[in-house]
Amino acid sequence: MDLKIACIPGDGIGPEIVAEAKKVLNAVADQYGHTMHYTDILMGGASIDVHGVPLTDEAVETAKNADAVLMGSIGGDTTTSPWYKLPPNLRPEAGLLGIRKALNLFANLRPAVLYSELRGACPLKEEISAAGFDMLIMRELTGGLYFGERRTTEENGVRKAVDTLVYDENEIRRIAIKGFDIAMKRRKKVTSVDKANVLDSSRLWRSVVEEVAKDYPEVTLEHMLVDNCAMQLVKDPAQFDVILTENMFGDILSDEASMVTGSIGMLASASLNDTKFGLYEPSHGSAPDIAGQDIANPIATVLSAAMMLRYSFDLDKEADAIEDAVRQVLKEGYRTGDIMSEGCIRTGCSQMGDLLAERIR
Ligand code: NAD
Repeated sequence: MDLKIACIPGDGIGPEIVAEAKKVLNAVADQYGHTMHYTDILMGGASIDVHGVPLTDEAVETAKNADAVLMGSIGGDTTTSPWYKLPPNLRPEAGLLGIRKALNLFANLRPAVLYSELRGACPLKEEISAAGFDMLIMRELTGGLYFGERRTTEENGVRKAVDTLVYDENEIRRIAIKGFDIAMKRRKKVTSVDKANVLDSSRLWRSVVEEVAKDYPEVTLEHMLVDNCAMQLVKDPAQFDVILTENMFGDILSDEASMVTGSIGMLASASLNDTKFGLYEPSHGSAPDIAGQDIANPIATVLSAAMMLRYSFDLDKEADAIEDAVRQVLKEGYRTGDIMSEGCIRTGCSQMGDLLAERIR
């Protein structure tokens, strides 16, 4: 298969971790007979330095012409970097918002997996972490409270602010379909999270999700109120497979879920539109404090590349091979500094990429 991949190395550790993800993808290509066609795109600070803006129209066109985008991370030190003296619409992060909008990426996926070898980093009680967990939060990204009408007024000296939470059934249906499609590739369980005991938007959410569920008889659907979900994530995270939820609930729950894994350098993510196209990137930032030292953990980016193979290219076997390689390398005791523990073998960013690629070949 020919895979057209646009790469955004970005800033800070971005170029280092994307290089390692490419190394692993190339090993997959060799092993399974695929051809990778990479095109690099400048975005964020790297684009500001060359073009004066964080994202150019040409960069968006290049991304649109690819089958998927693999990104490192963008941004610099927000207190010292000259990029943050620019007006907000010209700062690195504006590039990310711009590309998400241009590519109509409405579904955000964040897996939270507790690897048995990294259980020590999990902040939960041992009896809970012992069960492990492997969940995926599917968050609606372009609607809801963050995009509704808002205003602040003052009446008789009293300030008043209003934000509006709006969803139409089509927005709910398209994310629900994504959620169920992805559950079919996993353990076939969807937990739809809402606040249907209070909010009209949640009652509509619940009824549309139930309609979509009828097309997926193999998937078990359960509904959970968001406050209960926040508790269950720390009480019994093993119960979750796919958590499907709206924008603000997903924003909060996905951060909570990733924190319970305890390992920021291991967390992948994807943003999808209504085709197979997606943008894949680690959940962490550009870590300017450790950039250029060959000590960053490339695994979150490597696992994002595995998600790309699974969700944009339907190459499940190849994605499994990458995820198995990660498990294998951890089992053998190799660790980058961020996940280092006593008795393990400390490796750099590039060596970690080599080890993963070797386990695939
Ligand atoms: P960060 O995630 O970059 O770093 C937080 C801490 O985690 C740092 O100590 C860093 O060294 C460490 N860390 C992060 N990733 C690591 C890895 N792969 N291996 C080892 N250690 C790792 O968050 P921050 O410091 O708040 O932000 C730095 C920059 O990244 C800012 O400019 C911010 O705007 C940007 N950012 C970008 C994205 C994105 O591109 N999607 C996301 C978040 C932050």
